[in-house]
Amino acid sequence: MNSLSRTIGLPHLISDYDSLNRNRAKPPKTVNKFTKKCSSCAMAKTQPMACILMCEVFAMSQCINSLMELTAIPAISKMQLKPILQIYNQLTPILANNADEPFFKKSSDELNELTQCIEERALRLVQTNAQLIHENKKTGDHEARLTALFENMSNGIAVYRFIDDANDFIITDLNKAAERIENINRKEVIGQKLSSVFPFSAQAGLHDVLKRVSETGLTETHTMAIQTENHISQWRENYVCKLPNGEVAVVFNDVTHRKNAEMTLQLTQFSVNHCADSLYWISADGHIKYVNDSSCKFLGYSREKLLTLTVADIDALYSAESWVFHWQTLKEKGAINLETIYRTQQGKQISVDISANYLLFEGEEYYCGFVRDISERKALQTELERQAQLDYLTGIANRRYFMAQAEMELARTARYGGALSVFMLDIDHFKQVNDNHGHTAGDRVLERVGGIFADFLRETDIPGRLGGEEFAVLLPETGLEKAVEVAERLRSYIAESPIFFESGALPLSISVSIGVTTLQDHNGNINDLLNRADQALYRAKSAGRNRVCK
Ligand code: GH3
Ligand code: MG
Ligand code: MG
Repeated sequence: MNSLSRTIGLPHLISDYDSLNRNRAKPPKTVNKFTKKCSSCAMAKTQPMACILMCEVFAMSQCINSLMELTAIPAISKMQLKPILQIYNQLTPILANNADEPFFKKSSDELNELTQCIEERALRLVQTNAQLIHENKKTGDHEARLTALFENMSNGIAVYRFIDDANDFIITDLNKAAERIENINRKEVIGQKLSSVFPFSAQAGLHDVLKRVSETGLTETHTMAIQTENHISQWRENYVCKLPNGEVAVVFNDVTHRKNAEMTLQLTQFSVNHCADSLYWISADGHIKYVNDSSCKFLGYSREKLLTLTVADIDALYSAESWVFHWQTLKEKGAINLETIYRTQQGKQISVDISANYLLFEGEEYYCGFVRDISERKALQTELERQAQLDYLTGIANRRYFMAQAEMELARTARYGGALSVFMLDIDHFKQVNDNHGHTAGDRVLERVGGIFADFLRETDIPGRLGGEEFAVLLPETGLEKAVEVAERLRSYIAESPIFFESGALPLSISVSIGVTTLQDHNGNINDLLNRADQALYRAKSAGRNRVCK
């Protein structure tokens, strides 16, 4: 443009290009628009109209050029283009008529160049404008999307601004979820202080977290317990971040239900692991699927190892049939109780009582068993049974147990046949032992006689203390003669074996009388048999004692 201006001899118009640019809207002072001629231009004399038009074009072009330099201007208005086009239309024939003159030719070329330049710039501006409109629309869409997200998120969002002098935060925004979760109306609380809307915020640590995030700009997560009347009534999970404008946003959720569920789960887990009973979850195919801490301690396996085992590895009485039977019964009844023996990793066998429940969990069937160590109870039970069956002093069967065994033996003999003999034994003059040597010595004598039975009799023979110093012995598969023989050997052994005392008292010799009988009628009962033996014993006593009678 400078070259065009110089070429057409208008140096005064371009002498101060910058000032022209600044005053682009005003026409140059030296131009008398359409009516006055240019004062110093050579062309003004020969071509006054052309001079005026050129001046006008120049001024306009300066103006447009300036406009085009400013990319921020979105488009050239039609109003601005119209005078340019008018001037251009007037200039065109003048330039065409003077096409041969170098000055006009050059001017014509430069005018074309200018036109082309204007068109290109205009096109570019239109494109920029379209792009800006598009960007504007995108920004609008984006903002609408963010607003929709903000409003429709299930998480609550609260935005705060710190106020220095009050060391507090002002609520600047809340979404719908925040209103719902906190049961507040945002119209009422926006603009209010955090401490007055959420009085628990300081105690629950929210104020400190907000302040820290506000100062450091570092995002924090914060789980917050809300206390009401000395107990935790609600839980919030906060995600706190700083916004570019300096405000702090809290994205939060009410996690009270989840926290309570977690707490219940932890308590359950704790109880399960700390209960004395072992807990096993076993699948239908016998694989161990879950164990508590007590199970591991009880069996001596690590949890990992136990979870690789099957019920067959830990149950000493396991058989495929018994497992199938237990599983079926469990399914039918829903719960069963059973006793079995578990085998520890060290090979020790322990009696256990199992209380099992059939459970369906997430589509899978389980045998859920609480297993209790009953080895002590079992030992006690065995001891009690033993005590209930045996005579406390001699260790042989008491009257009741002897009678029960005798009944069984009699029934067996009745079914399968064979001999069965019995003898009754009574210590002679036992009262005198007590009287002369004391009751303790008498007990010692009774113990000794019980011991002699164990030494003398076969495994299958059944001795019993019927009461006082009176004993009976059942001899299965033994005829009368053989029974008399055994009785005789026993009598003579007792008579020849003095009894020694730990007290150091002189040894004591005793004797016994024995009455022997045998089963004659397989339909007979034990009382008949014992009565007959008792009669034989009476005869032995009557005959002078220390003898065997049948
Ligand atoms: P006999 O030769 O006629 O059988 O005379 P005896 O003295 O042995 O018979 P008696 O029935 O007169 O006496 C039995 C005694 O046995 C009486 C009782 O005090 C004693 N006695 C019974 N049970 C026990 C016991 O458990 N311990 C002791 N030390 N004595 C017992
Ligand atoms: Mg006696
Ligand atoms: Mg007696």
